[in-house]
Amino acid sequence: MRLEDYDKRQRFDATVVSSNRITPEESDIEVRELLLEVARPNFGYEPGQSIGVLTPGDAAFGTDEHFRLYSVADTSSRAADNPVIAITVRRVSYIDDYSGERYDGIASNYLCDLRDGETLSITGPYGIAFEVPEDRDANLLLIGSGTGIAPFRAYVKHIYQNVGDWRGKVRLFYGAQTGLEHLYMNEHRDDFTLYYDEDTFEAFKALSPRPNWADPIAWDYCLMERSEEIVEMLDDPKTYVFVAGLEPIRDELDKVFAEIVGSAEKWQRRRAEMVAGGRWTELLY
Ligand SMILES: Cc1cc2nc3c(=O)[nH]c(=O)nc-3n(C[C@H](O)[C@H](O)[C@H](O)COP(=O)(O)OP(=O)(O)OC[C@H]3O[C@@H](n4cnc5c(N)ncnc54)[C@H](O)[C@@H]3O)c2cc1C
Repeated sequence: MRLEDYDKRQRFDATVVSSNRITPEESDIEVRELLLEVARPNFGYEPGQSIGVLTPGDAAFGTDEHFRLYSVADTSSRAADNPVIAITVRRVSYIDDYSGERYDGIASNYLCDLRDGETLSITGPYGIAFEVPEDRDANLLLIGSGTGIAPFRAYVKHIYQNVGDWRGKVRLFYGAQTGLEHLYMNEHRDDFTLYYDEDTFEAFKALSPRPNWADPIAWDYCLMERSEEIVEMLDDPKTYVFVAGLEPIRDELDKVFAEIVGSAEKWQRRRAEMVAGGRWTELLY
C-alpha cells in the first residue's frame, strides 16, 4: 500500500513526554526513543502495528504536510486517561543521486528535533499486526534489523508479560552495523534482559563484519551457526516467522535460508508455503 492511500482523516494530538537518544554518543547513528501521550483514551494497538506521523510541509512546493509511518515499540503506561506509546526513530539523511548533495530526511529529523512538551499530529494505528498464535506451544522466530527491533520489543513484552506461560521457543535474531546500534540490547540499555531468565527465550546478535564500511550485516554467520535449530523450527508447522526492518533484509535472508534448507528453489517453495499459511509475516520499509 502506498503512503498516499492510508486513511489520514482521523487525527489525534500527541504530546512528547520524553525524547532520549538510545544510541551512544560515540555512534554515528542517532536513534531516539520518543514517548508520546496520545490525546485519545481508547487508542488501541497490537504489536507490529504502526502510527502515522504528519509533519508540516511547504505549500510553496505543493505539499502542505508529509506523512510517514513508525512502528509502535511500547505501550507500557498511561498518563491520566491517555495512553503513552513509544516510537523509535532513526535520524535519516541521504545523498541525492543527481546532485550528490546531502539532504536531511523530513519526518525523522522533525521527530528527532521535537522536545518534551511539544505536540504533533498522529493517525492510525495501521498495519497487519504480528499476530500472537493462539497455541502457547507455537515457536516464534523473530528477525529484525536496525529500527526493526521496535515492534519486537513490544511483541516479546506482550508474550511474556500479558499472554504469559509461553511454552514454544522464542528466538530473536537482531542485526546492526555495530554493537552500539543494537538498540535496547547494548551495554547502556538492554530491555531484553527482562526475558533472559525465561527458559523459552534466546536472543542473538548479528553484526557487520567491517563496522566502518557499508557492508551488509553478517546474517549468514549468525543464522548458519544455529542452522540445525532453525531447520527444526521451520519443519515444525507450529513455527511462525516475523521479519522487520529495511527492505534489503529480504534478499539477505533469502540467500541464507536457501543455504540452510539446501537450495534457492526449496527455499522459495518453503517460504511461499509459510506465507500462504500465515506463518511468515514481514514489516519492511
Ligand atoms: C510500516 C513502516 C514502519 C516503519 N517504522 C519505522 C520505525 O519504527 N523507525 C524508523 O526510524 N523508521 C520507520 N519507518 C520508516 C519511516 O516511515 C521513514 O521512511 C523514515 O523515517 C525516513 O523518513 P524521512 O521523512 O525522514 O526521510 P525522507 O525525507 O522520506 O527521505 C528518505 C530517504 O532516506 C532513505 N532512508 C529512509 N529510511 C532510512 C533508514 N532507516 N536508514 C537509511 N536510509 C533511509 C530513503 O531511501 C530515501 O532516500 C517505517 C516505515 C514503514 C513503512
